[in-house]
Formats: sequence, C-alpha cells, structure tokens
Amino acid sequence: MSAALPPPITELISALAKLPGIGPRSAERIALHLVQTESQTVSHLAEAILEGRKRITFCEVCGSLTEKSPCEICSDTHRDGSLICVVERAVDIISIEKSGAFRGKYHVLGGKISPLNGVEPEDLRIHQLEQRLTAESIKELVIALGTDVEGDATSFYLAKRLARPGLSISRIAHGLPAGSGLEFADELTLSRALEGRRELR
Ligand SMILES: [Zn+2]
Repeated sequence: MSAALPPPITELISALAKLPGIGPRSAERIALHLVQTESQTVSHLAEAILEGRKRITFCEVCGSLTEKSPCEICSDTHRDGSLICVVERAVDIISIEKSGAFRGKYHVLGGKISPLNGVEPEDLRIHQLEQRLTAESIKELVIALGTDVEGDATSFYLAKRLARPGLSISRIAHGLPAGSGLEFADELTLSRALEGRRELR
C-alpha cells in the first residue's frame, strides 16, 4: 500500500513547480511547509502575491516594472533624456542604479535574441526603442547586455539596426565577468564598465 499526498497538496506542489527556479523537490518542500504554517502567515503571503500582481504594471515608455506609468525614472526631468541605457530585464535597472554611475534613462528589451530558444528580434521591445529614437531627442544608446554569446549577438544586431546619423551606440563590456549577466557584477565593476563603454560600429 502506498500512501499518496492529499489532492490539495499535490495541486499546490504543481502550482509552485511552475515558478521560475523552483524544481519539483523545492515545490514539495514549500507546499508541505505552507500547509503546516499558521493560517494568518499564509493569508499574508497570498495577499502579497495578489496585491503585487494587481499594482504592478509595465512602464509604457521604458518597459520596466512600475506602479505608475510612465515610471519614476522616465518622469524624472533631472535625468539626461539624451542618454538611454538598453538592458535585458527590468531588474538590471536596479543593478545599474545601485552603481550610481548612470544619470540617463533606460529601455528594457525583455530578453536577448536567441534563435535556439525561439527568441527572435520581433519578440523583443526593439520596435518601441525605434519609436523612442524618433520621438525623443536621444543622442547616445549605451547597450548594457550580458557578455555571453546571446548578449554579443543582440548588441551587434541592435548597433546595425538602430544606426542613424547623430546617434552614438556604445556598449559596456569592460571588466564585466565574461559570459555573465549584470546581476553578477558588483557596483564598482558596473560603474567602471559604464565609464569604459566603447562605440559599436
Ligand atoms: Zn519608464
């Protein structure tokens, strides 16, 4: 005779296993923990999830996560709107902001070109960036994608597609750990990488 877990627990496990970075074993551990936790604590967690989902939206300009669109950075008139830093994900903005080395604005691509994973240029927010280049007076794009193969390919694709007179396109690379994303770089490395950006041609 084999004892099976009650259906409410198996349902919880399969819901948790759909989250990024949570494998079947972690999902099981979290589910078993939750069903034995005080109701009030679990309600608080459930409310935080619902509230977060309800209140967070994408910034219509840069594509980052915000409570109010346009976001705080896009609406900040003290920032240099002629300088746009292009990042892969909204969380990369946080890494760059922490370095304190950037006073321009941002554009979130939403990924990197990766034909093997089915990510084509049209899946990214490149068209929106082209619209911004037309609508705003942007003088420089600083591409801050990871230094892996996909980051390289995407940077060169962007430099080619977005090239236009009067626009300088540079890329941070200097000192960033090879083959990694921005989240692994410390603040000093990131601020040096921004200072040492090189023009892409
Ligand atoms: Zn924004």
